Amino acid sequence: MQKEIIVINPWIYDFAAYDCWVRPFGPLRIVAGLKERGLSVRFIDCMNRKDLGTGNDKDRDASFGCGKFKKTLIEKPASLRDIDRPYFRYGISKESFFQQLPSKQPKAVLVGSMMTYWYPGAFEVIQIIKKRYPRVPVVLGGIYAALYPEHARKYSRADMVISETNFEKVFSNLERFLRISHGSSLSTEDVLPAYEFYGNKTAVAVRTSEGCPFNCSHCVSRKLANQYKQRSPEKVLEELNKYRQKFKTRDIAFYDDAMLVNSENHAERIFKGIVSSEMDLRLHFPNGLHACFLNNKNAELMKKAGAVTIRLGLETSNWLIQKNIGNKITEKAFLRAVETLFDADFQPAVLGAYTMMGLPGQKPEDVLQDIAFLTDKCGIQAFLAAYSPIPGSKDFANMSIHIQEKLLEEPLYTNNTVFSDFSGVFDQDTIRSMRKIASGKNKKLQQ
Ligand code: SF4
Repeated sequence: MQKEIIVINPWIYDFAAYDCWVRPFGPLRIVAGLKERGLSVRFIDCMNRKDLGTGNDKDRDASFGCGKFKKTLIEKPASLRDIDRPYFRYGISKESFFQQLPSKQPKAVLVGSMMTYWYPGAFEVIQIIKKRYPRVPVVLGGIYAALYPEHARKYSRADMVISETNFEKVFSNLERFLRISHGSSLSTEDVLPAYEFYGNKTAVAVRTSEGCPFNCSHCVSRKLANQYKQRSPEKVLEELNKYRQKFKTRDIAFYDDAMLVNSENHAERIFKGIVSSEMDLRLHFPNGLHACFLNNKNAELMKKAGAVTIRLGLETSNWLIQKNIGNKITEKAFLRAVETLFDADFQPAVLGAYTMMGLPGQKPEDVLQDIAFLTDKCGIQAFLAAYSPIPGSKDFANMSIHIQEKLLEEPLYTNNTVFSDFSGVFDQDTIRSMRKIASGKNKKLQQ
């Protein structure tokens, strides 16, 4: 009988984490690719909120398929000792994880990774696997492995580290390593996440395009996907229809970095297809839409298709800093985009924009101005994210050698909770007070 390949989505180790449509998109595509090759696969999701295996785990859905992860207080790693906040392992219990490991030796174990500072979760999984199956090869992939390949090779104990995120390249690397090649390569478009292996089908993540045509200084989208590509709208509709029919899923979170590019031939066709097929979906855009590509037509179609969570990417309303980080929007264009959304009958409670705290050159007064710009002037909610430079971004290359070395040596310092502390300008108290102001103003807009 064929030996199994185990694919694992590891735990999150952090000060805070919330399931806002966090789905193991990459690992589930690997599962689908392996199944496509006729291999026997087992998927273990350490972040499964529906895991009922250990008694006190409850279904913790809040709204639209989002909700709280189960968390366990753990000791902070030595490098985070000075941070005055509790640290947690988020996800299923260790007991549940052990229960899901098969007694028979698998052929290989593939471990994913997401945020660079969540690597302790992947390392923990690898450590357990190495102990349980000492002779089984372990492969580590995902975003942390792609942005920190040397760190991962040095410390993870994985037998192979895949420093790519392009699916075809990842898969062909895997096939070579596991000696499962079938000669032809898999087409990216045909391999969709294997949600049939996923415990929580209330909401699923869908990606209609890869990459982004912009190249903002704080972002690594260009590094992770060096080409901007859109899928065929027909294939996207087929995929959505499958989830609706097969899993009864209504909530769709779009994982695109730039869905509205070439809107007439892409997003508008997808929205039109959703409307005409009466799928009755709720659409969410947690990654942020480009305000510069919004127009009356796509906004109206988006509304008719069932959009209920609209987030725009603003980053900053200091227009000089905006120009320096990527020049993706002007004040006039942003105000026009918001007006377009109101004209399409979207209400303030479903509208918001992301801004950052701690961008190079930014001051706390700039963030106060962002909050006022969004909530008072535009009438939409302000969602603040603390900044930290990511290796591979232009900002990172412009940091002092001292900071670069520090962040390269310890990915935990790229956690925005930590970076804000040693960057000096935006300390935790400042960040907390900004969040409080934004939250107060957002609450009024949610009424
Ligand atoms: S920040 Fe947004 S617009 Fe800029 S490169 Fe990244 S994904 Fe594209």
